[in-house]
Amino acid sequence: MTEHLNQAAEGPDVQSIPGRREPHSSAGLPGPDKGGIIFEVTGIISTGELQGGMWLARSSSPETVDGGASGEEGGVLLERLAAAGPLLAVVAHPDDESFGLGAVLAALGAAGGEVRVLCFTHGEASTLGAREDLGRLREEELQAAAVRLGLVGVSLYDFPDGGLATLEDKELDDVLEDHVAGVASLVAFEPLGVTGHPDHVAATSAAWRAARRHGLAVLEWGVAPAVAEQLNAELGTAFSPLEGPGSVELTVDRAVQRQAISCHASQAGDNVVLQRRLALSVDRERVRLREPAEPRRS
Ligand SMILES: [Zn+2]
Repeated sequence: MTEHLNQAAEGPDVQSIPGRREPHSSAGLPGPDKGGIIFEVTGIISTGELQGGMWLARSSSPETVDGGASGEEGGVLLERLAAAGPLLAVVAHPDDESFGLGAVLAALGAAGGEVRVLCFTHGEASTLGAREDLGRLREEELQAAAVRLGLVGVSLYDFPDGGLATLEDKELDDVLEDHVAGVASLVAFEPLGVTGHPDHVAATSAAWRAARRHGLAVLEWGVAPAVAEQLNAELGTAFSPLEGPGSVELTVDRAVQRQAISCHASQAGDNVVLQRRLALSVDRERVRLREPAEPRRS
C-alpha cells in the first residue's frame, strides 16, 4: 500500500516500510513499538531550495518586539540549535510541520541543522478535503512536504486523529523513546497548542515529557499576541499567543514554507485561517527556547 513512497518526486532516496502496528525498522530510524508507517527521506538536501528558507537577522531594535528579543538574537538562537545536534520536531498532524513550523524548520535546515519530524496521526479526520482515504493522501502530502523542507527523516504514526488527548501518556511516550536517541533539541508547538487543538496539546505534552526524561531543550513555536488577537477577532479562532520572557521574534523567508504548504493540497486549498495567519505574520515567526529543567541526558 505504500509503493508510492518508494518513488520520490524530487529524486531523493526514499525508503518506506509498509505495515501498521507492526514492529519494524528502516535504515537510520528505529522501529516503533506500535502504530504506523515509518518512512525515511534521505539524501534530499537541496541547497538551492534551502537558501530560500534562510532566516535573516532583523535589524530593528529589541524594543520593537513586545515581550521578546530582537531578530539578531533569534538568528543566533537558531544557529546555536542547528550546531548543537540533530533536532526532532514533534507534531500531531501532517501539515503541522509546514503550516506551523515550516518557516522555522526550513531556517534550521538552512543553518545546517539536521531536522527530523515525528508525526503522530495521518490527519484522517480533517474536515478539509474529507474523503475515505484522506489519511493515505495526507501521508503522501507529508512526504512531499518533507522533501521541500529539507528534512532528513519523517516518522509517521497512525494514532487516531482527534484522539491523542484520550491516549495514555505512555503510548506517546513509548514512541518518543524510539526517536530521541542522539537528538539534541526538540521542536514543538507552544504548550497550549497554538490553535487550541487537543491533539496539538497532547503532542507538545509528549515532547515535554521526553525533554524532561532526557534533559533536552525544547524550541516552542507560536504566534505573536497581536496576530492571535486579530485572528480570533476576525475568524472566531482560538489561537493562543506565545509571549513573555524568552520569546524571540525571527524574521524568515517563507519561500520554502510556501512550497511545503502547497504540497498539502488537501488542507491548504480553502484554508482561510492559514492564509490570514501568514498574511498577518508577514515575515515574522515567534519562538521560545526552553532549556531542560532537569538535565538527565541518557
Ligand atoms: Zn494540526
